[in-house]
Amino acid sequence: MSLKSEHDIIQVKSFVLGQWHEVGTDARDIRSAITGQVIAHAGSAGLDFAAMRDYAVTQGGPALRKMSFHDRARMLKAMALFLTEHKQTLYELSFDTGATQKDHLIDIDGGIGTLLVFASKGRREMPNSTVYVDGELEQLSRSGSFVGQHVCTSLQGVAVHINAFNFPVWGMLEKLAPTLLAGVPAIVKPATSTSYVAEACVRLLIESQLLPSGALQLISGGTGDLLNHLTGQDVLSFTGSQATGTQLRSHPNLLSQATRVVVEQDSLNSTVLGPDVETNSVEFELFVDEVVGEMTTKAGQKCTAIRRIMVPESRVEATIAALSTRLGKTVVGDPRLDSTDMGALVSAAQRKDVVAGLEKLAGETETVFGDVSPVRIQGPELCTDAFMNPVLNYCADPDKAIHVHELEPFGPVATLMGYRCVSHAIEMTNRSQGSLVASVITQDNEVARQMVIEGGAYHGRLYFNNRDSMQESTGHGSPLPHLVHGGPGRAGGGEEMGGVRGVMHYMQRTGVQGSPELLVGITQRWVPGATKVEEVEHPFTQAFHSLNLGQTLKTRSRTITLSDIEQFANFTGDTFYAHMDHEAALRNPFFPGRVAHGYLLLSFAAGLFVEPNEGPVLANTGLDKLRFLTPVEPGDSIAVQLTVKEKTPRNDQYGEVRWHVCILNQSEKMVAEYELLTMNSY
Ligand code: NAP
Repeated sequence: MSLKSEHDIIQVKSFVLGQWHEVGTDARDIRSAITGQVIAHAGSAGLDFAAMRDYAVTQGGPALRKMSFHDRARMLKAMALFLTEHKQTLYELSFDTGATQKDHLIDIDGGIGTLLVFASKGRREMPNSTVYVDGELEQLSRSGSFVGQHVCTSLQGVAVHINAFNFPVWGMLEKLAPTLLAGVPAIVKPATSTSYVAEACVRLLIESQLLPSGALQLISGGTGDLLNHLTGQDVLSFTGSQATGTQLRSHPNLLSQATRVVVEQDSLNSTVLGPDVETNSVEFELFVDEVVGEMTTKAGQKCTAIRRIMVPESRVEATIAALSTRLGKTVVGDPRLDSTDMGALVSAAQRKDVVAGLEKLAGETETVFGDVSPVRIQGPELCTDAFMNPVLNYCADPDKAIHVHELEPFGPVATLMGYRCVSHAIEMTNRSQGSLVASVITQDNEVARQMVIEGGAYHGRLYFNNRDSMQESTGHGSPLPHLVHGGPGRAGGGEEMGGVRGVMHYMQRTGVQGSPELLVGITQRWVPGATKVEEVEHPFTQAFHSLNLGQTLKTRSRTITLSDIEQFANFTGDTFYAHMDHEAALRNPFFPGRVAHGYLLLSFAAGLFVEPNEGPVLANTGLDKLRFLTPVEPGDSIAVQLTVKEKTPRNDQYGEVRWHVCILNQSEKMVAEYELLTMNSY
């Protein structure tokens, strides 16, 4: 085995106040999981942590807050594209963490994918502004002159991200994406054992020059006294073990400052084989696939990995046999080889932890597949200290067992147990006192519903799968940027991602009260009660940028006749009795007699407000929040008021205009109200 020279050893630097800083005098050795050699040094002694926070708050924060959500979303997309171009560098480095190429897809490509999803959600679900409007307008007064609205604005501190070792890229990007989208700068502290991969990723992001100065700083090594400097405007977002999570959340300064702390920690996730699943069915194969995948991907070092497997008591033997056959085919070896299914744990120390965990479980379980004897692997420069085979345990008395439901050996280890009925299975999933995910393989709707009702409170995510969804399903262990990742109690009580929900951890929600007019100014969204301005020029003839919020078109009126209603009924085929049969309509509690179709009113409304000539309006893309409020009888007349409510640029050619539409009758009573969406060119 050739030893690395000092020259080859990666110096994992910190990025502080816009500069790369040499490794401190507290440098720790980082060993390759597969060769056992020291490959990197990291240490943060000498960093001025107070100055780091200050730099983030005075440089990064203001620069990010000048950008709209859409600007930040575009930045996230550009970051993702830049990392994609350079991901090979990250793959190469990551093999030394013990990860296979398949594992890299989860960590590196998964991290890039998360940036892309947040980029897309930022553009589609957030405004092109710096104020996020949360929920509907609240009417606080009789006449509507005093209203309320929740809005969210960026916190003015820094987000400190402390990450676990197992996903050095995804773990960093899944926190960074919502933080930056919120307009908040970040100080990232990766776990030291895989910090060389995270540092390489940060290095790429800095090289890309896509981020404003101060938006991203990196600590490679310990956090020093950083937490002493955090305030109520900062957020600490942590992923790691229960012990560290507990220590951090009880930090005296964070408690006294009421600093937000988001914690994701280890959890005892479980999977349940539904009572309806026969051992010769596709669902059974699916179940075996999911369990084996969860035990072996990343050598089981996944926060969402299945640790407890619950099957009907009558299926225990068959399941152990099927899992053992499949696990027996798992090729444990050099992660750099395509033929390898499972690489190494992150370090020899991690393997020792897992073996110690298994020893504790031994009093409650028997091992039915695998063992902890050293793994024999052939390969140049390989050191087998961090490799281990998957281990499947069986727990015969899960009701009495304690460790099985509490202890998480963070490696390729799971325990199988039998259940008597669905409630028993759910009760056991809940015994972990909070998990990130529980899965159920079933085709039975009742089982799924029971799991949600009896188990939902204990799990951050519930994953159901069967033959109908298996082709496109994403896997028990994959947290998705669209859905929340986190869990109650033992899982840390935190929640990350979940689309825009995850962005809100880095923003302050404020209930704003005032007049409708002031709210338009604040939110850049017109609300009923605010001024409507009529212009001579038809708004459909005006390009996107010339339209003003509150700009209103009031149309002429049109009388609805019985012949209109009959013609519409015969033309569309909608001959519902309320439009056609006076006596029947009278028996209906909603109608005074025959009434016009709601869709007729919408169509006539369009006929009243549309400007027919070719112009800036490119298309009508939909209606939102449509309500029919007052019936229209033959002889009534309607007129329309069309008001510009909100404008959202979509690309460099056109943007979406949201119009508030009121259809009023001859007594100015609201007949229908809705929001119309059009795409308008610039
Ligand atoms: P860990 O030992 O708790 O370390 C996590 C992070 O905390 C590392 O960056 C570590 O830095 C840092 N840290 C430790 N003590 C600290 C302190 N006093 N002040 C500031 N930072 C401190 O956990 P790990 O061994 O890296 O990760 C494995 C665990 O994480 C497993 O239990 C797993 O279940 C859990 N995990 C949970 C999730 C989730 O989303 N819920 C995801 C992945 C992993 P150093 O490395 O420099 O010590």
